[in-house]
Amino acid sequence: MSYALGLRCLRCDQRYGLGMMFEGCPKCADPDIVSNLVVEYDYEKIRNVLSREVVSRRPSRLGVWRYRELLPVSDERHALSLGEGSTALLHSTSVGRKIGLRNLYLKDESRNPTWSFKDRFSAVAISKGLEFGVKTTAAASTGNLGASVAAYSAKAGVPSIILTIPTVPFTMLGLMRAYGAKVVAVTTPAGRWELMSKGVREYGWYPAGTYTTPPTGNPYGLQGYKTIGYELVEQLGWRSPDYIIQPTANGAGLFGEWRGIKEFYDLGMVDSLPVMVAAEPEAGGPLYRSTLEPRETIARVQTKKSVAFSIAGSVTSYQALRAVKDSKGYSVLVSEEEILEAQSLIASCEGVLAEASSAASVAAAKKMREEGRVDADAVVVCVLTSSGLKDLENRREQLANIPTVEPRWEELQRVLQTYYA
Ligand SMILES: *Cc1c(COP(=O)(O)O)cnc(C)c1O
Ligand SMILES: [Zn+2]
Repeated sequence: MSYALGLRCLRCDQRYGLGMMFEGCPKCADPDIVSNLVVEYDYEKIRNVLSREVVSRRPSRLGVWRYRELLPVSDERHALSLGEGSTALLHSTSVGRKIGLRNLYLKDESRNPTWSFKDRFSAVAISKGLEFGVKTTAAASTGNLGASVAAYSAKAGVPSIILTIPTVPFTMLGLMRAYGAKVVAVTTPAGRWELMSKGVREYGWYPAGTYTTPPTGNPYGLQGYKTIGYELVEQLGWRSPDYIIQPTANGAGLFGEWRGIKEFYDLGMVDSLPVMVAAEPEAGGPLYRSTLEPRETIARVQTKKSVAFSIAGSVTSYQALRAVKDSKGYSVLVSEEEILEAQSLIASCEGVLAEASSAASVAAAKKMREEGRVDADAVVVCVLTSSGLKDLENRREQLANIPTVEPRWEELQRVLQTYYA
């Protein structure tokens, strides 16, 4: 059962009921900042029912619902599952040696049902939508969120509308359509959010993502991201990593992971807290920019085309800023080359093919080590948010040139030497 009590503003502490609030806190909103709302729980009661032992005994097939007390879905009949969560944490010895980190771990979120960590969000967001009795779900997405929302809406038997970008990668589009979403490409990012807003306000669409600037989003779905934090703590033997490096767009994942570990800390289930590090592409970097401002504000940046298209956003969220500030963390900007190099490194040394956006976390880890911001012994977790099968398109030219031979040994030998040295 759920012990959710209500929503609370992260900035002014105003409390609200567990209602359909998707546009942040109306009380303290100003032109620079609109704060996110977070779900609050009855932690006193949870303390009596949840412990390390209780959690450990629950089977991993329950996925995100292993932590149902700390999720906002009250009726278990509404708890949708496609087998999300309980993903592997890999000790990355080869990449670790190359970049000088003895305790580098990869949290492989590509093992989720639609091959990205967005499934943790969608599982909880759409389940909560069922509880609200919604008739249509909607999301504005460049790919992974749309694919995930489409899949969980299909499972829920609710139609979904996905507003995407005209350049949406073919694989992402293919997934969304296969799951039955009504997909429409909208020519501008601002336009996508405006249309979403009208659909939500006037036509009862249930937003499974964000559509306001600065981004506030669905506070229930965000709760699903906490489970990455819970899992990490347990997988590391009931200790927190020293650093979590999270590829960041709006910062929902970053904040969710922080919030999850903070809850375990407050419940006495773990003794320390991680430093939260955002990995952002140089092509965007709104959180990085916001952290440079002396006063609390949410900066906007111009974006460029990036291989990390899932995280090259122009604006961050208040909750992302809070995760970084409250954990004494920061944002690391990485270049296009650094991202692609990290993607190849993880695949060729560890056998894990991550989306370029996801590999930004490993690129950031390398940079942090080079700049002496992290010790060689620190426990560093890089979250690999999605699968490299989503963006193989990036490598089309490279892959088009593989050598072809007549079936003769000498020819094979020749190309192995000339082409692959
Ligand atoms: C959505 C996404 C992210 C991060 O999104 P946040 O809004 O910052 O949580 C990171 N990587 C990939 C591959 C994504 O699809
Ligand atoms: Zn407020």
